[in-house]
Amino acid sequence: MRTKKWTEEYDVVIIGSGFAGLAAAIEAKEKGADVVVIEKMRTPGGNSAISGGLFAVAGSPLQTRDGIVDSPDLMHQDMLNAGMNLNHPELAQVVADQSLSALHWSIENLAVQYKENLNHLGGHSVPRTYTTKSGSGSGIIQPMLSKCRQLEIPIKIKTRLNRMISGANDRIEGIEVQSDYHFPHEQSGITQHIRAKKAVVLATGGFGSDVKFRLIQDPRLNNNIDTTNHKGATAEGLIAALEVGATPLQLCWIQLGPWASLDEKGWGVGSLFTLLAGFPYGIMVDAKTGKRFVNEMSDRRLRTDAMLLKDRAPVAIVDSQGVKYATTLDKCLKRGVVQAFDSIEELAKSNMIPEASLIETVRNYNMYLGHGCDTEFEKSLPKDLKPLTTPPYYSIRLLPKVHYCMGGIRINSKAQVLSVSEGLPIPGLYAAGEVTGGIHGASRLGSNSIVECIVFGRIAGVNAVAENENV
Ligand code: ADP
Repeated sequence: MRTKKWTEEYDVVIIGSGFAGLAAAIEAKEKGADVVVIEKMRTPGGNSAISGGLFAVAGSPLQTRDGIVDSPDLMHQDMLNAGMNLNHPELAQVVADQSLSALHWSIENLAVQYKENLNHLGGHSVPRTYTTKSGSGSGIIQPMLSKCRQLEIPIKIKTRLNRMISGANDRIEGIEVQSDYHFPHEQSGITQHIRAKKAVVLATGGFGSDVKFRLIQDPRLNNNIDTTNHKGATAEGLIAALEVGATPLQLCWIQLGPWASLDEKGWGVGSLFTLLAGFPYGIMVDAKTGKRFVNEMSDRRLRTDAMLLKDRAPVAIVDSQGVKYATTLDKCLKRGVVQAFDSIEELAKSNMIPEASLIETVRNYNMYLGHGCDTEFEKSLPKDLKPLTTPPYYSIRLLPKVHYCMGGIRINSKAQVLSVSEGLPIPGLYAAGEVTGGIHGASRLGSNSIVECIVFGRIAGVNAVAENENV
């Protein structure tokens, strides 16, 4: 539909102010375009701001320092293994190939600060995960917002995308928005039309909080299942792209995070505890049996499938050596999400775990460490891993929560949105980040979201500027 009543016009209009949208905005502006970012919530940052700030990089300076051999091809292979080869391999390759340049860009262009140690997350062959100094995604979002201020990129909050506006040859010419929008009140705000002279970049994230839409894709994920996502992670951006002919891709592949706590809502403080300490340096047992039941370092899908099977009651356990890596320990203890015990016996009693069975599980695990081989679940056991012998022992009760949508709209390596009818780029429409699909296949590896958003956000920003102006 054509409209001549544009309220405002810019070269590039970006929808969503998470990692992907802000990376696109910064690139586009630095390439000389007139740019605007719109964001429906009261504050920018989306899920990105509340994420763990974990960034996977193949061939990084910290890996070189630590003598870790890695390559983009190994990272790519890890992504395909976790993704059950449902990944579109050329998209996954772009992420792995450009992971190092994305890290450098964040340090050199944005002045993001990272910790000096690497983390080893489940499903990655080697330690390759950087963590922001603040221990959260805001450690990247805040520098991105500073950069936007410095570059004078307007970020219009409380402005919601309603739909795309297409013109001749189905080219996207702009968007209809509700300004002064008050989430979640659908009817609030004033309808306006923003013209995109060159292109629109869709970066509206996933739909993990959209129970109605996620139920259509996966009827198991009803209201009883919590999510780590912010409230604005809803599907209307994705739907707006589908309405103008974008290709939907693997929308039912919705990931649950295996590390979240039963004793708090959302992502909370427990997720990072388990992710950084409980799983890599400890064990997970079923409280009903006292036995381990899965490789604690396998990919997220394998772990959550095992946790949900047979109505298990998963508890992760780590001792005082492994707990050193838990950046959120103090908050976890304060909020009662994690509990500390002087002995395994006390931990078993408090968590209602069969005591003798748990003692045997810990003994076996320590024996595997001694032999350097986990014969039960094939967890990788690096040499520096210490046996669980040093009190206090810490426990966290776990509950899988909806975390990430692997599916989304189809893009190519240039971040162009591809039409469902022809498989060709929809002129003037780009997308990046969680709203897109195909990169991660059946399961996204931890710390692969930030890198994906920055890599494809930058690609979208650069290519959007290179579009011819529509007249
Ligand atoms: P990503 O990690 O892919 O960058 P995020 O969830 O971090 O995704 O950011 C997406 C942002 O897009 C969120 O801040 C969200 O509130 C915003 N958003 C989602 N839908 C809309 C919409 N219809 N209009 C404007 N902003 C939206």
